[in-house]
Amino acid sequence: MKYVLVTGGVVSGLGKGVTASSIGVILMACGLRITSIKIDPYLNMDAGTMSPFEHGEVFVLDDGGEVDLDLGNYERFLDVTLTRDNNITTGKIYQSVLESERRGNYLGKTVQVVPHITDAIKNWIESVSAIPVDGKEGPPDVCVIELGGTVGDIESMPFIEALRQLSFSVGQDNFCLIHVSLVPVLGVVGEQKTKPTQHSVRELRSLGLTPHLLACRSAKPLLESSKEKLSQFCHVPLGNILNIHDVPNIWHVPLLLQGQNAHHAILKQLNCLSVSTRPDLQ
Ligand code: ADP
Repeated sequence: MKYVLVTGGVVSGLGKGVTASSIGVILMACGLRITSIKIDPYLNMDAGTMSPFEHGEVFVLDDGGEVDLDLGNYERFLDVTLTRDNNITTGKIYQSVLESERRGNYLGKTVQVVPHITDAIKNWIESVSAIPVDGKEGPPDVCVIELGGTVGDIESMPFIEALRQLSFSVGQDNFCLIHVSLVPVLGVVGEQKTKPTQHSVRELRSLGLTPHLLACRSAKPLLESSKEKLSQFCHVPLGNILNIHDVPNIWHVPLLLQGQNAHHAILKQLNCLSVSTRPDLQ
């Protein structure tokens, strides 16, 4: 199993869900079978009781699971049928660990965030990612994991630590981290500012995760000089700096990524450039 992790920095609501879905689309177009997991670090068990004014639509899955709207994006973009287990929340993880504790599964042990919560997160990801969601048999090739919220949030720390451990255990050929960040333009100066992205990459690194690709959200296309700056200061190859500028329709995003050869960069990181790529994507 290969994992593509999508994290976000600087602000929430950047378009991580749309980016993760679009990455799934371009990998699927290369012949890979995709599944996805959305991690929501809030304590609610699911999105069912949350205000749609605050949180956006509650998406209802075929199995009745009331989940984050990003799972709706995944189903629509990837033509898959997900289950409630494809949406992990802090509430669900704690519930499973606490039920385990009551059953006596940790007898004699002190139950702690590390390793018990982090192990539960890793086990959940590994078992759910192996379940086919495209109607075919056998495990998918790639699991796209979206970590909700913004890197550095206190509530996402156990997930970051679990994902760090996962990246180490599956090895670098099986793990690709794409960090979605914001490149704002200051009205008065009119210049694309890379500093917020530099800071969020530094935060990510301090937590033990290294981004392989940057997906920079901006109002207008990124200037070559901004990309060079980001590459140099964030330690990410120039070809791996992707730009997702504002588009009138989110269905343009997979094409935007394909036009920047994002699929090649991801497949290279995942050491599977040899997968049969469609001629129009080469
Ligand atoms: P996040 O997962 O980071 O919270 P979402 O993927 O839910 O963000 O996107 C937040 C909002 O931004 C959605 O309404 C989405 O349609 C919009 N959006 C995302 N990417 C783009 C883009 N490139 N251009 C215009 N709107 C976008």
